Amino acid sequence: MAMYDYDLFVIGGGSGGVRAARIAASHGARVGLCEASRLGGTCVMRGCVPKKLLVYGAEVAHELEGARGFGWEISSVKFDWPTLIANKNRELDRLEGIYHGLLKSAGVELKAGFGRLLDEHTVSVNGEQLSADKILIAVGGWPQPPPIPGAELGISSNEALDLPALPESIVIVGGGYIAVEFAGIFAAMGSAVTLLYRGEQVLRGFDHQVRNALAAELVANGIDVRLQTNAASVSKCARGVAVETTTGDRIEADQILFATGRMPNVKDLNLHQVGVATTASGVIKVDHYSRTSVDSIYAVGDVTDRINLTPVAIAEGHAFADTCFGGMDRPVEHHLVPSAVFSQPPVAVVGLSEDEARQQGYAVKTFSSHFRPLKHTLSGRGEKTFMKLVVDDSNDLVLGAHMMGAYAPEIIQGIAIALRCGATKAQFDATIGIHPTAAEEFVTMRQAD
Ligand code: NDP
Repeated sequence: MAMYDYDLFVIGGGSGGVRAARIAASHGARVGLCEASRLGGTCVMRGCVPKKLLVYGAEVAHELEGARGFGWEISSVKFDWPTLIANKNRELDRLEGIYHGLLKSAGVELKAGFGRLLDEHTVSVNGEQLSADKILIAVGGWPQPPPIPGAELGISSNEALDLPALPESIVIVGGGYIAVEFAGIFAAMGSAVTLLYRGEQVLRGFDHQVRNALAAELVANGIDVRLQTNAASVSKCARGVAVETTTGDRIEADQILFATGRMPNVKDLNLHQVGVATTASGVIKVDHYSRTSVDSIYAVGDVTDRINLTPVAIAEGHAFADTCFGGMDRPVEHHLVPSAVFSQPPVAVVGLSEDEARQQGYAVKTFSSHFRPLKHTLSGRGEKTFMKLVVDDSNDLVLGAHMMGAYAPEIIQGIAIALRCGATKAQFDATIGIHPTAAEEFVTMRQAD
């Protein structure tokens, strides 16, 4: 092994790459890592963390709205977007420092710069050639604007997190995680938001009742949701941008945000010259051990497009390091991965939707509840909560749990453990609820739909 500079060289300092580097080093490997931008990657610098901080800001707006019902008279309210952005950026600086500290204390050598493969054991960073027994590609993904005229006039979530001023009006294109999350943030802060989605309901892939329930809340929050409508072209206008829609409308707004998916960040990596196989869309092909088509090269995280979630990339990076440097046999397992959409209110799910369960041939029974949470009897707000269990009628196993409502991500995290343990509906029913909570509804839904 000493014939190489490192036992492992990691390209990309996001969640997956950093975890793999640290764990490999803890197993005794000599590890190097390069990052072209800021340590922390998409989640910490341009995604989950800054987004969640803005979501907290948006939730304050909703709290203020309902405050009077609880006796609070708030005579003047002023929101300052630059303060929120500056405070958010200060926190990102702090987190970046923590990431540097983590790598340093693990003994991982950091190279600032873009890593490019030269051969199956060599990476070039800023012209320096570095060799390694194994190479891990953990470069993540990047926003993908749609191929329409004027798309360059739009912003992505990267820029949306750093706008110098709150837009008075914004058009958001897309109906996935990022689209509904940013629609909620901007609407709560006071922007006029128009959401254009080409499909028949937002959040394709989620349970149909959750999608409908969330769409109703988006509308109740003042968002102009236009389904089966896409942006056809964008041009400049005095206000900012003019968007021609596929339904023939023209919308003028300060900004247009494209939340139309992400692509793997593989351009300029030299994958094909080195023989790393990708799919037609550029995703690196890997097996359950994150091995690519080249023996010494591995890949984890969004660049492999298995499930594009930070904890999944971390799990993949950890399993890779344990297997390759810790003498363990740890294939990656992507079973029952819970996820959340930090919309207003949030959505969280684990397991199968009703449609997925039916398509997979289960005898499906569902239990659901759509109610106004106790808090809003005084807040005066109309926000609803929706919960649903998808059950296999043949053996009573709970196949999926779905929620839209306050604290849904916090609640579903616990339910995910129950599903992984193979909980049955009878075991949910036998569990005593915590009263008064919304979560207790998951153990008190007796009547099948
Ligand atoms: P998604 O894949 O979730 O959504 C993309 C949306 O854009 C879909 O509604 C899609 O429509 C639409 N779309 C795609 N291409 C076009 C086009 N050419 N014109 C118009 N609309 C288009 O991607 P996001 O960008 O929202 O997020 C990327 C990934 O990041 C997610 O898959 C998720 O894994 C992750 N993420 C996770 C978060 C979390 O865990 N809370 C938060 C943010 C991101 P259609 O449905 O018809 O395909």
